[in-house]
Amino acid sequence: MKIGVLTSGGDSPGMNAALRAVVRSAISGGHEVLGIRRGYTGMIEGGPSMQRMGWSDVAGILQRGGTILGSARSQEFRQPAGRRQAALNLVQCGIDRLVVIGGDGSLSGAQLLHEEWPSLLAELVERGDLTAEQATLHPHLGVVGLPGSIDNDLPGIDVSIGSDTALHRIVEAVDRIFSTADSHQRIFVVEVMGRRCGYLTLMASLATGAEVAILPESPPGPGWEEVLCQKLAAARKAGRRASIVLLAEGARDSLGAPITVNQVKDLLETRLHEEVRITILGHVQRGGAPTAFDRNQSTILGAAAVEALGKVGEPVLIGLHGNQASPTPLKDCLRRSLAIDQALKDGNQERAIELRGPHFVRALSTRKILGRIEPTGPTGETFRIAVMHAGAPAPGMNMAVRASVRLLVDQGHTVLGIRRGMKGLVEGDIAELRWMDVSGWSSIGGAQLGTNRRVLSGHDLYAVARHLEHFQVQGLLIIGGLTAYQTAETIRANENHYPSFAIPVICVPATIDNNLPGSDFSIGADTALNSIVEVVDRIKQSAVASRRCFVVEVMGRECGYLALTSALATGAERVYLPEEGIEIERLLQDLRGFSAGFQSGRRVGLAIRNECANPLYTTHFIASLFEEEGKDEFDVRQAILGHLQQGGDPTPFDRTLAVRLTAGACEKLLELCKTRQALSLGVGLQAGRTDFTDLCVLDHLLDPGRGRPRTQWWLPLRELMRKLAQRE
Ligand code: ADP
Repeated sequence: MKIGVLTSGGDSPGMNAALRAVVRSAISGGHEVLGIRRGYTGMIEGGPSMQRMGWSDVAGILQRGGTILGSARSQEFRQPAGRRQAALNLVQCGIDRLVVIGGDGSLSGAQLLHEEWPSLLAELVERGDLTAEQATLHPHLGVVGLPGSIDNDLPGIDVSIGSDTALHRIVEAVDRIFSTADSHQRIFVVEVMGRRCGYLTLMASLATGAEVAILPESPPGPGWEEVLCQKLAAARKAGRRASIVLLAEGARDSLGAPITVNQVKDLLETRLHEEVRITILGHVQRGGAPTAFDRNQSTILGAAAVEALGKVGEPVLIGLHGNQASPTPLKDCLRRSLAIDQALKDGNQERAIELRGPHFVRALSTRKILGRIEPTGPTGETFRIAVMHAGAPAPGMNMAVRASVRLLVDQGHTVLGIRRGMKGLVEGDIAELRWMDVSGWSSIGGAQLGTNRRVLSGHDLYAVARHLEHFQVQGLLIIGGLTAYQTAETIRANENHYPSFAIPVICVPATIDNNLPGSDFSIGADTALNSIVEVVDRIKQSAVASRRCFVVEVMGRECGYLALTSALATGAERVYLPEEGIEIERLLQDLRGFSAGFQSGRRVGLAIRNECANPLYTTHFIASLFEEEGKDEFDVRQAILGHLQQGGDPTPFDRTLAVRLTAGACEKLLELCKTRQALSLGVGLQAGRTDFTDLCVLDHLLDPGRGRPRTQWWLPLRELMRKLAQRE
């Protein structure tokens, strides 16, 4: 195949990673790729704007924001004559397969070009610009679209390229604004990108705990000004020193009148007599290095795009559904996008929200509860639910506790916080957690409730049973790692001996290792991954000046998730996983690979080793072996990243995952309490949906003798990582 690839419309971080994957996957498959500069502008210009791309043309771009191909908005392409010229240039270059990385505008253009292709070619033949033979060689234009838009406004896929990075920028900014607002008792009105889609505003408000979020999909009704003022006045009365109002660019009231930051500021200053400040985040949201998630999703999607081009058919949009790349007919996706725009124009918000998909619907309703200033109060039978951690701290744990307290207390249930994990459970260190006790917990890393790695032993059970009875605990939520799951199983196994154990228990997966059964992702892993990726980017940069190979050790225990996903996100050439172990033969082969790379001009080498990949072939051993055998060709340094991977403020992904999983867990726990079912379940995200796993059979779910699930969805990514990182 001869493939043309372009980035078009608004740029988004991760486009480069997608381009790298398209180019390298195509070359590995024996195809030819031409990079088209500045979107459709370059396609119309032709000539030097459409150039063949080689393996090394996309080296070192994974971590770069923007797009090295450049992007543009082309008015000419909107005209039939412009598209005819574009078709002529494509045929003259022999291209009849296109990968378009862009937003809904760019993808609409691609769909149109595909549909018009036969008639454009016929016109070109008629005009004498092409011969009939040239046209018959390219009867069909294959099109694959990749969703490149920070707004995440394309329906039918989980998330578009760049929106995770944009959320990082927004959440970092709001966290900082919050700390200054808090010191000065101020209200901040923050404008977030998103003219026709409130995804960024919605997710940022969930992640930061902002009191108010105004988005195009849920415009406030008449009299909203009064409601807003009352809410913020009530917040101050309830003890909040600072308040944040997040406003999407495209925010409107229910009559369709735009709501601007200045209008909100004037309103609040006049009515509340408070100091109000405005921050318009603007292009800061678009720029900078892509997050680990954006790099990896772009890489997965780019490789899948080349595969999809092999099939002749209607244009498709490749997007993530759960953790897998899968195609949707582009036409359907664009049709749905137009339907959303129309619904918003017609003031039919319910329809617009429904078309955005179930995840958006749920996030919106959870946000409504979490953004309340005070709980609503009981609506039915109420229960006493205890919440605790188990295992090592993981960033996002606090968010999970905050969400559980707010969601449960809102309905009048009592939440009991068990401090210091298993120790607190054994010693009865238990106290009620109220609505405001978890205020400000969204952004804090670590575990405010306290946690430790202690596992329940037989001696502890009597004490635990007594405390559960004394505090009349009717349901238990354990947010943590494998220890949490083992505790849930122990409680179930002993319920015949201790009547107070006959309560439902739900585990919420929270560990940086991502080694828990029943969930594709655990809370904390994304933060750890980003911490690794940031450090490795720096390490790679430091090594550019000298020919140097780095061996980086990352955490993960018996699970290679962090090692593999960080290798994929940083373009590491080698990765050592506990799932594969390390053999000396392979180390020698890798050594030869590095040597050959440095001989042919490579300046940096990178190998990532999971801490448990092999007990004897340690990071130090591998670095020494490479150093000794690398002779004068290159030198070697090791970096053991250690606890920096466990700390840090949780990323937006981990915060929103915490909210999503906890919301699911609380709902299920209450259902089990109501129906008096004493089950132990683990909540998880499976293929993009919240699901539950019975923990009675924990042993069957785990790899025998290893602390990791029997099946791990990410293992097939090994091939992709190796394919893209090898030399041409
Ligand atoms: P995005 O792709 O980020 O949504 P735009 O809406 O600006 O950005 O679209 C990018 C480019 O795609 C436009 O400048 C134009 O060249 C092309 N394009 C957009 N919509 C159409 C359309 N309906 N028909 C033809 N080309 C289009």
